[in-house]
Amino acid sequence: MKAVRLIEIGKPLRMEDLPAPDPGPEEVLVRVHAAGICHSDAHYRAGVSRVHPLPRTPGHEIAGVAEKIGANVKHIARGTRVCVHYLATCGHCAYCFAGQEQFCATGKMIGKEQDGGYAELAVVPARSLFVLPEEIPFVQGAIMMCSSATALHALRKARLQAGESVAVFGFGGLGYSAVQLARALGAGEIFAVDINPHKLRLAAGLGAIGIDAGKGDAAAQIMEATKGRGVDVALELIGLPASMDGAVRCLGRLGRAALAGLTRESFPVFPYDNLLNKEAQIIGVSDHLASELPLLLELARSGKLQIPAAVTRLIPLEAGAINAALDGLEGGTDHIRTVITP
Ligand SMILES: [Zn+2]
Ligand SMILES: [Zn+2]
Repeated sequence: MKAVRLIEIGKPLRMEDLPAPDPGPEEVLVRVHAAGICHSDAHYRAGVSRVHPLPRTPGHEIAGVAEKIGANVKHIARGTRVCVHYLATCGHCAYCFAGQEQFCATGKMIGKEQDGGYAELAVVPARSLFVLPEEIPFVQGAIMMCSSATALHALRKARLQAGESVAVFGFGGLGYSAVQLARALGAGEIFAVDINPHKLRLAAGLGAIGIDAGKGDAAAQIMEATKGRGVDVALELIGLPASMDGAVRCLGRLGRAALAGLTRESFPVFPYDNLLNKEAQIIGVSDHLASELPLLLELARSGKLQIPAAVTRLIPLEAGAINAALDGLEGGTDHIRTVITP
C-alpha cells in the first residue's frame, strides 16, 4: 500500500510503499476514504511536538470502510462505513473506566504514536471505531473526529446551557464547528472573533455575529455588543495569549472560558476584575471523549452540523500535495480543512 510518512523531523513527508498491514484480534483494517490534515500534523513534521520512533504515518482524522476484521471483533462487520476516534486506549485503567479515556495511562494517539491515515490502509483498534451513517460523507466524517469533536468537548466542559451567549475566538476548523454546535445545543447570541474578513463572512453565514479583532480589542467589542453584560461562555480555539486574555475578559457574571488552543506562553489574569468579582472560571480542554462522539455523529446526521464542500479542499495521497497543505497550515490559510482522499 501507499503511505505518505514522516521519515525525518523538519523534512518533507515522503511516499513509501509498504506491505498491507494485518489487523490483530482486537483491531480492524480500514480502507481510508478520507484523512484530514490537521495543524498538529504540521507540528509533528516541524518537531514542535515530538514523534518517536520514526518513520511514522501521520493522520488522526480518518474515515473509511472496514476491510479486514480482527478475530475478536463483534461490533463492526466487513464493509461498514466507519470513522475513527483518534485515541487508542486500553479500556481498563481507572481513567478509561471513568469515561475520561483521554488520560489513559497507555493511550496512544493514532497518527502520532501509531501509524495513521495518510495511507491507503490503516489498522486501528476496534474500540476506536464508530459507524459512520450514510448521510455523512467520508470527508466530513474524517474532519469531525478532530476539530468538531474538540469543539463539542469544549462546549461541554464550559457547561453551555440553552439560551446562554457564546463567544468563539478563532474561526478555523474548530470554530466553524463550534458555532454550529453551540447553536445545536441551544445557545443564544453567538459571537465569532477572527481577523480574517473571509472567515468573518463565513461565520456570519452561520448566523454568528462577527467580531473583527483586527479593528480593536475583541473583548471590548463584545462587551459593547452585549451592553456591558459579557458572554456566558467563551471558547479560545487559537492558542494565542491575546485571544485567551480576550476570552477571559469578555465573560459576564458566572461566565466560563474554555481554553482549547495550544500555547506555552502565558497571559495576564487580573483575579479581582476577571474572576473573583464575577465568579468566572477558566477551564482547560484536552482532546475529546469517545462518549461524546455518538451525539456529534447524530448532530451531523441530522444536518445540524455541516462541513460543506466549499470549506474543504481535497487532495490526492501524494507527498507533494500533502507537504504543500502542511506548509499552508504553518503559514495560515483561508481553507477550513484540507482532506486527503486516496
Ligand atoms: Zn486533528
Ligand atoms: Zn486506559
